[in-house]
Amino acid sequence: MNFENQTVLITGGGRGIGETIALKFATLGADIALLDSNPNFDNIIKSTKLLGSKCITFQADVTDFESIDAILKKISEEQGGISILVNNAGITKDELFMRMKPEQWSKVIDVNLNGIFNVTKAVIRQMIKQRFGRIINISSVVGFTGNPGQVNYSSTKSAIIGFTKSLAREVGSRGITVNAVAPGFIDTPMTQILNENQREVITKQIPLGRMGSAEDIANSVAFLASKEASYITGSILHVNGGMF
Ligand code: NAD
Repeated sequence: MNFENQTVLITGGGRGIGETIALKFATLGADIALLDSNPNFDNIIKSTKLLGSKCITFQADVTDFESIDAILKKISEEQGGISILVNNAGITKDELFMRMKPEQWSKVIDVNLNGIFNVTKAVIRQMIKQRFGRIINISSVVGFTGNPGQVNYSSTKSAIIGFTKSLAREVGSRGITVNAVAPGFIDTPMTQILNENQREVITKQIPLGRMGSAEDIANSVAFLASKEASYITGSILHVNGGMF
């Protein structure tokens, strides 16, 4: 796979799965643009520089539609149009439904779902003009299986599937593919809050006998963005060690 002369925008690219996706694309020759609400980009800037890739970073919130439009203009000026968009930013605010507060519901919907609308809306115009684009949305296994304590989160991850499939049908004729990756349990800061016992219970449900790594997800995202996957659109790639 080779992504030379292509710019990839990754939301939530400052740590975890997003950071690893950025490194993967940089290794494969792409230029990187990162958008994250957390301003700590030091590691990723150093690593991409070592790989000889351009990396531009923005501290921004995916829920803020206006600031995203301005960021896109800046990326276009500095690195050209975006060829690949990875909608990766996501949060959890877990609580049993009976105790879930309206704010816990709305915040997760706002970041995980409205965020994808905002960033995709801003990028798609460019992609249509270019008559080329690859959009990869990060869903989750719990969007398919459900998970107690995650009614809010799993609702967004299911909704991402409808978003992916519908948009794929709208923009296929413009040379744009839209796919999703649905990770299982992946070892990142998001899941490091689980205790040893919870990890053991989860690992028992995984036929391959381990939690996934961020690299497992980055490899799948790179594949869906590659020319080798150019006839795949509206698809969901399940990367979960066989648990679903
Ligand atoms: P993480 O918490 O380690 O990283 C998420 C990143 O998103 C952080 O850098 C954070 O600052 C950023 N972010 C959060 N809210 C944002 C906002 N409003 N605007 C911009 N950036 C924001 O999480 P992760 O484990 O790397 O997860 C990445 C994606 O993968 C998420 O969409 C998550 O739902 C999904 N996912 C993760 C797992 C897992 O087991 N870790 C499993 C399935 C799906």
